[in-house]
Formats: sequence, C-alpha cells, structure tokens
Amino acid sequence: MAMRHSVVLDSRRCRGCTSCIKCCPTEAIRVRGRKATILPDRCIDCGECIRICPHKAIKSVGDGLDVLTRYEYCVALPEPALYGQFHNLDNIDIILNALLEIGFHKVFEVAKAAEMLSDFERQCICSGPPEVTPQISSSCPTVLRLIRMRFPKLMGHVACTILPMELAAILARREAMEETGLPPEKIGVFAIVPCSSKVTAARESEGLNHTVLDGAFAIRDIYLRLLSPMKHLENVEPMSSAGIIGMGWASCGGESAARLGNRCVSVDGINNVIRMLEEIEDGRLPEADFLELSACTQGCVGGCFTVENPYAAKMRLKSLMKGQPVSRNRFQLQGEARDVVRRDKELQYLPTFVLDQDLGAALNKQLRIQELESHLPGLHCGSCGAPSCHAFAEDVILGRASVDDCIFKVRERMRSMAGKEEADDYLPPPFRRCQSDPVKK
Ligand code: SF4
Ligand code: SF4
Repeated sequence: MAMRHSVVLDSRRCRGCTSCIKCCPTEAIRVRGRKATILPDRCIDCGECIRICPHKAIKSVGDGLDVLTRYEYCVALPEPALYGQFHNLDNIDIILNALLEIGFHKVFEVAKAAEMLSDFERQCICSGPPEVTPQISSSCPTVLRLIRMRFPKLMGHVACTILPMELAAILARREAMEETGLPPEKIGVFAIVPCSSKVTAARESEGLNHTVLDGAFAIRDIYLRLLSPMKHLENVEPMSSAGIIGMGWASCGGESAARLGNRCVSVDGINNVIRMLEEIEDGRLPEADFLELSACTQGCVGGCFTVENPYAAKMRLKSLMKGQPVSRNRFQLQGEARDVVRRDKELQYLPTFVLDQDLGAALNKQLRIQELESHLPGLHCGSCGAPSCHAFAEDVILGRASVDDCIFKVRERMRSMAGKEEADDYLPPPFRRCQSDPVKK
C-alpha cells in the first residue's frame, strides 16, 4: 500500500528551477516540462526540499484544527521542541495552559513519554548488553524510513521502542478514558509536531500495526494560535510533568545523554546521518554502543515545522530547563504491560531501488543503466531534470525519461548532423568548450 506522505508539491507554484532535485537524499525529485514531481516510493519526508524551494512550491500538510470538532474530548500532545519557539518565556505552564484555551481539553506532554522511554532504556542497559551493537535510536521516523530503504542490513540494529509521541498517545487516551468515561473513539488525541515526517508517522506508524494518533498539527500553526491566549492568561495552573531528561529529547544529544552511557554518538542533519550509516554498515565504528540519529539540524528543534532557528530554540530550551528536576517520570510497568513501549511489527525492507522483481530482468536493466551512464558526461548538471547522470540513466531505462532529455546527447546528434563544432553553441555557457581546449573528434 502506498504511503500517505505529508510532503506535497503545489505545481502551480513550481517554476521548474531544479533547486530541489539535488538536495533530496533519496533522489526522489524530477523536473520535467518545467514542473517538479516527487517519486512517492522514494520520499522519506525529510523536508529538505521544503527548506530549499525558493518559490514555496513544496510544503508539508498537517491536519487543520477543525478536526477537533469531530471528537467530544481532545488531548494535545506537545513535542518538547514547541517550548523553544517563544521569546522571553520562563514558564512552560504558560504554553500548556494556553493549549486548553484553543480547543483542547487535556494536555499530555511528549517529554513525559520520552522520559519514560529513557528510563525503560536504562533498565534494559542494566539487565545486560544489547544483542546487536551499535543500537540505533528509533525516535526519528525519517531515519527509520531511510534505513528501511537504503540500509536494510541495519534494520536489526534499530531499538525496539516506539516513538515518544506514540507512547504519549497510548497513555493519554487511557488516562482520558478513565477521567471521562468516554469510549476511545470519542476521544481525539493529536500530536503537535516539529516536522513533516511525524505527520506521516501519525498517519502510518513505522512500528505499530494500528495508528494510535488521530492527527498531527504543525508547531508553526499552533504557535500562531497560542500567542494571544499566552498573553492574556489570568490563571496559570501548574501542569508541566516532565523534567530535563524528557525536554532534552527536543535536540540532538538529549536521548543519548538520558542513557547515562558514554559510548553514544549523536548525529544531526540528513547527509551526516547517511554518512554515519554507511560507516556503520562497513563496520567502521565498532566501539559505539548507541547511535542517536536525527534527520534535522540540531534534532527536532530544526524540523521544517518550527518557527525559530534551531540554535536559538535549543538555547531557549536550555534556559527553560533551569530549575526543573532532572526527571519526573519512571517506567514502572511490570510483566506484559511493559510491552506498551515496544513495536508490535518488525521494520520491513522497502525495495524502492529494486529495478525489477525478476532477478534476471533487474540485472539486465542494471547493465543497460551502466552502459548508458558511461556515455553521459558525468557533470550531474541537472538540466535533464534528474539529480545525477546515474539517476537520468535509470529514468531512461525505466521509461521515465527519453535519452533526448540530455542536452549533451542532443548536441552529439546535432554535431553528427551538422558535421562541425558549432553545435557547442547549443549548450549553456558553463558546458561550452574553451578556445584552448583540445577538440575531441
Ligand atoms: S525548487 Fe523544485 S519545486 Fe521549487 S520551484 Fe524549483 S523545481 Fe519547482
Ligand atoms: S521530503 Fe526529502 S525525501 Fe521527500 S522529496 Fe523532499 S527532499 Fe526528497
């Protein structure tokens, strides 16, 4: 079944500038006929293209607040990255109280669930070393999709736990049912998330067979709605229920610090994450116990749905942590109840880069791609609308493009028709030969 991505293209705004094709870590974007398209099987919802598009033609779509009207009782699950978005804020309770003013009936902090997950992880460490090292954090859905697609050999390294927002949703719904006596379908549970990949994860979980969230709102949308009630609150009830450890998950390094181990590596930014996964695949980091990998710069505070720059948001979070207890939540469930934090489905390999289901046919296509690529200039200029000459060769062999989409192949044909060098004039200036270059016959 096709994934329901939250990253979408508005082709009316797209001018075909090709800025986006090279930033995509999975080469999922093509531009043809002056319009970009996203290959849905390849998109990991990292949001890189949203950040780079100069014409705002790519966006991520979260849910609209009108969905709250479908439920009798609505619970907000704010991610801790939300707390770092506000200037001159010294009390998290102001945000939590203001959420009750904009239509929610209850707030359950994702930082609280993160703190419980950290305690669970520490208990696992105390009970013995993991079977496979290094263990890879399961907290970034973009990284999980990347591993399933490009690094399937590493799927066994991924921690068994669900996302903090998913644990928060399960616990919040239980609490709301007990408090109100309402059946689960009358309670709406919504995450307030920093990035596109968490919107997608709310619709389709990486680790659970069923969705536990009823929707996800972008931090930037909720931010605007919160500003006025935050200014005019008369009473601020104490609501905050997480400590430094839970809030720390908002930025890269927080999850590692909460494990209290020293052989942890924290990596942020999708390209750094890819490099690190390549090293792990090659066995070049045998001494690490744990890898915290965040697709966004500085972790969740750098998500494409945030308002503040990630460094400022991280600084603000740090100052909000001052005076907070280190931790307020333990993971105390026993027996089968402990499984609430575990995935109930295994990560499945996504065969996106498989050229054909039939092995012989796939091999044949691979050889044809290599053959065509060897006749391409290797400039990766993007003028064919693909991010690299290899991706273009693949597109031609898979029927997604014509070889005439390559301006160099067209020039080759014109040269042989005209029988002279003037065909170089048809190339854009960066690719024309200099006077001093030897003429290639
Ligand atoms: S960056 Fe991509 S989506 Fe945006 S206008 Fe250029 S081609 Fe279109
Ligand atoms: S969201 Fe990321 S993976 Fe998807 S098309 Fe954009 S850059 Fe590529």
